[in-house]
Amino acid sequence: MTICQTCGACCASFRVDFHPAELAGGAFPWGAGVPPAMTLPLTANMVRMAGTDGKVSRCVALIGEIGQQVACSIYDERPSPCREFDIEHEACNRARQRCGLERLPISNESQQ
Ligand code: SF4
Repeated sequence: MTICQTCGACCASFRVDFHPAELAGGAFPWGAGVPPAMTLPLTANMVRMAGTDGKVSRCVALIGEIGQQVACSIYDERPSPCREFDIEHEACNRARQRCGLERLPISNESQQ
């Protein structure tokens, strides 16, 4: 089990916005594309994963208990911000701290 499968903090901390072309039926979907029913329309060029706005954030696609065992229910179709999120970055630790989890050592900490 990887650290991400016992964490989930990033999926419960940040807004996840992306272009509607990544939706199922969109112009450039990953795999089958992100299910539109799991998103909120923002603008003509932006949608957001439902659950990721507001002060208490938790993506609707996240299953499990944060800090215990979690999974993305649309892993193969997850949007680009999720694919590009760098666990070797301070943002990972900010999310963990926000969720009451301990910091992880990161290799590029001196670059933050
Ligand atoms: S789509 Fe999956 S990886 Fe992305 S925030 Fe939601 S649960 Fe996390």
